[in-house]
Amino acid sequence: MDMPNSTRITASLKASLAEDFFSLLTRAGEFCHKRGERLFVAGGIVRDLLIDIQSKDIDLVVEGDSHALADEIARLYNAKITLHQRFQTAKLSVNGFTVDIAIARKETYDHPGALPKITAGTMEDDLKRRDFSINAMAVSISGDTYGHLVDPLGGYADLKAGIIRILHPESFSDDPTRIFRAIRYEQRFGFEIEPETLTLLQEAKKHIPALSADRLRYEFECILDEQAPEKALCRASRLSVLKAVSEKLVFDMTSAGWFKSVRENNSLESPLPSLYLASWIGGMADSDAQRLAARLNLSADSRKTVGDISKLKKRLINLRLPGLLPADICRILDSITPVAIEAFTVISPDSMVKERLRMYLASLRHIRPILGGDELIELGYSPGPDIGKALQKIKNARLNGVVSTRKQEIEMAKNLLGRSSP
Ligand code: ATP
Repeated sequence: MDMPNSTRITASLKASLAEDFFSLLTRAGEFCHKRGERLFVAGGIVRDLLIDIQSKDIDLVVEGDSHALADEIARLYNAKITLHQRFQTAKLSVNGFTVDIAIARKETYDHPGALPKITAGTMEDDLKRRDFSINAMAVSISGDTYGHLVDPLGGYADLKAGIIRILHPESFSDDPTRIFRAIRYEQRFGFEIEPETLTLLQEAKKHIPALSADRLRYEFECILDEQAPEKALCRASRLSVLKAVSEKLVFDMTSAGWFKSVRENNSLESPLPSLYLASWIGGMADSDAQRLAARLNLSADSRKTVGDISKLKKRLINLRLPGLLPADICRILDSITPVAIEAFTVISPDSMVKERLRMYLASLRHIRPILGGDELIELGYSPGPDIGKALQKIKNARLNGVVSTRKQEIEMAKNLLGRSSP
């Protein structure tokens, strides 16, 4: 297979980056070359540029001093910079984009099965530590080799053949998060996990329980951030990877359909990942949802959504009652977080329920009385719980169309709070 030459790679790199980013890389490369160091772009950005996809962020790897390079870029581009001493990495924020800089590292093992020791190494060493061949390529951006593709592990061939391949047999057991990454890339690009890699993935599922909640949650966050997360979740379910995460956890075609509807329903306001999660959880038994929340150590917000979904499911029967007035709908839904309600507008099979949930989200939840507590106090009523109760009644009257003007609200307040004060 013809590997692309430096000229073609340079052109692709230029095409895949905003103009000032391309010049940033060139200047960074010149800086390193003068210091006798080699500089590379590596990982996802190389994979993406070889298949003509725009990359979100830039990963640089230097065989040398990462912090000196970060300081120079920060100086040239007035960038915000964060340095980490321990791993000698740096993060720069330039015009809303992130540039990560790392030093080339090598893993050595004192004996088989020992934890790796990390030392400074070459770019080629660094690529050997990576997850899949398609992510284990780099492009030189310094000196005479500018634009040269570094591909010691057959990444380009696998990319063209549409194959996800690990780099050594212990890869998944060394780091079981790669199981989720393999599925995510396979489904994102419409590739296939290579048969030997798939066998090793199946064997390594037993290591998933050892993953910490935070690492596992991060993998799910990455999946839910994909353009069509249902593809990776269906595949993970079919491979019983989800069951290894949490007993009984599955993702079926019904959930996949809900994900598509969530995406296509542009009247929903919450961020897509939280809506996906809410719709998936909406289809689970409460105990399974609780177990998943605990296993992933979900955030307080997501746990509230899990709790609210369970509440909402119990209240759906009330939302089916005939002749409900708007204030009744609000009473049922007011304490429920909007993301849970939005998810149920998609997953509820009942058209009346859907309609009421939509009406609540679009208008009812925003309705307030014209009068505020301060105004009632100005009218001479004493502060206290009675004012709150009166305002709630006025709000209900407004929701049900019984009052609509300020004058009518004042009249109602006088009836409720007594006429003597003002
Ligand atoms: P994406 O488009 O999903 O962001 P990416 O390739 O940029 O893809 P990152 O998670 O940002 O993904 O990782 C950057 C690079 O670091 C990868 O391309 C891969 O080479 C390497 N990498 C990331 N995670 C692992 C891992 N768990 N094991 C080995 N290498 C990894």
